[in-house]
Amino acid sequence: MTDIDVLIVGGGISGLSIAWWLAQAGISVEVWEQETRPGGKIQSVKADGYLTEQAASIVMNFRPEVSQFMIASGLEAYKMPRADTTNRYLVHDGQLLSLPMKLMPMIMSPLWSLRGKLRMFTEPFIPKGGHAQETVTEFITRRLGSEVLEKAMGSYITGTLASDPDLANAYAVLPRLTALEQRYGSIALGVLINKVLRRRTAAITEAFSFQGGMKTLIESLAQGIRFRPKHAVTKLEREGNNWRITSTNNRSVLAQQVVLSTPANVAASLVKPLDNQLAKYLAGIKIAPLSVVHLGFPRAAIPHALDGTGFLTPRQEDFAVTGCLWMSSLFSDRAPQGKVLLSTYIGGATQPAAVDWDDERSITAVMEALQSLLGINCDPENVRIDRHYQGLPLYHGNHTGRIAEIAKHLVHLPGLHLEANYREGISVRDRIARAAKVAEQILAYRKL
Ligand SMILES: Cc1cc2nc3c(=O)[nH]c(=O)nc-3n(C[C@H](O)[C@H](O)[C@H](O)COP(=O)(O)OP(=O)(O)OC[C@H]3O[C@@H](n4cnc5c(N)ncnc54)[C@H](O)[C@@H]3O)c2cc1C
Repeated sequence: MTDIDVLIVGGGISGLSIAWWLAQAGISVEVWEQETRPGGKIQSVKADGYLTEQAASIVMNFRPEVSQFMIASGLEAYKMPRADTTNRYLVHDGQLLSLPMKLMPMIMSPLWSLRGKLRMFTEPFIPKGGHAQETVTEFITRRLGSEVLEKAMGSYITGTLASDPDLANAYAVLPRLTALEQRYGSIALGVLINKVLRRRTAAITEAFSFQGGMKTLIESLAQGIRFRPKHAVTKLEREGNNWRITSTNNRSVLAQQVVLSTPANVAASLVKPLDNQLAKYLAGIKIAPLSVVHLGFPRAAIPHALDGTGFLTPRQEDFAVTGCLWMSSLFSDRAPQGKVLLSTYIGGATQPAAVDWDDERSITAVMEALQSLLGINCDPENVRIDRHYQGLPLYHGNHTGRIAEIAKHLVHLPGLHLEANYREGISVRDRIARAAKVAEQILAYRKL
């Protein structure tokens, strides 16, 4: 007899959402978290009327499982849709340029040179190619040309994934684009065929946060399950067909199945006594450091219309920031009346040392970009800096191969699951959708 069906180690969005799906199925589940609060990276902070997000600030959804989760969990009622500001800006020649999201207007944008546009039109005629270790730089250059990489796609990889396009595995970070090539021989043809056949695609159908910020999602999930704070797990052992888990506060539990929803390096140290090679694969996943600099200003101090979601910065542009979200344009409750909140990202895999910059240097780097791009003419009246020394896992090198190896090793450790943002996507959307699949695997194992 075990004490519990499933123990989940790590109370970030990955662990909490797996617990939620399991609890729906009537499984006895507990989440052990080393910190005093749930949420892991995700935390919303309200101070002086500004509501800032430490990590995830927006859910960009196109997955039906996530929509289903929102309704069934009751979170639908607390959702706050993104304002109807559809402009997305890129820095181009030191200025902000709005990039249309529809295919033809995008191709016709002044962002591209004539040569770049012609190159894009050749995409359907480029033969299928690629290899398992192909990087984003190689994949995008091969299919769409170097301008698309340098002026747009590269900044998506650095600005939203804190990654490096020269090292990121195309199949791991652009799974839908690479799948279109594999299936239809061309990205453009694939998009077109899916459109004609009205197939479900990866087009974002809704973008939202929650009333009170992302913390509402976390707190609501943690309330519905058995969440145990201050339980730092130090040992994982096989006991018969079950798993014994021990934490620093000398609690020990016997579970039929265990899910490690911790960062990869923590999972590596827990599994090392069980399978040294598995631990090596996990420890090989690098984690990028990054900082988020939240600045509040009077609206009147910014000449720019702020009529969009924010901007991304291609690497050849002369700014230290990788991107900026105009939080108060996205969600009206993020700044006091008459003020704006801009959250800007520095660091990541291409500039890891930036996380060690002191406050003054971090703010100066951000202000240089904001003054130049938005015409801001005063100092910020509100500042908060969130530093993530272990920010986001990097899907670098042969990441898909590494994840496949991890899966092979897990076959020899039945009832053990490794699930966090180092596999199948870093976004909150992907974590919730993946959690549904993991819960299915856990249920299937119980029936064996
Ligand atoms: C700056 C930034 C901005 C982002 N913006 C967005 C965004 O806008 N939209 C989006 O969708 N995503 C965004 N993300 C990504 C998203 O926030 C993360 O990928 C996600 O929150 C990670 O969740 P997780 O549960 O996998 O990991 P974590 O949040 O890291 O959770 C792991 C948990 O394990 C716990 N733990 C570790 N060791 C132990 C132990 N020994 N015992 C017990 N517990 C342990 C940790 O304390 C932690 O709570 C952003 C991320 C960052 C860093």
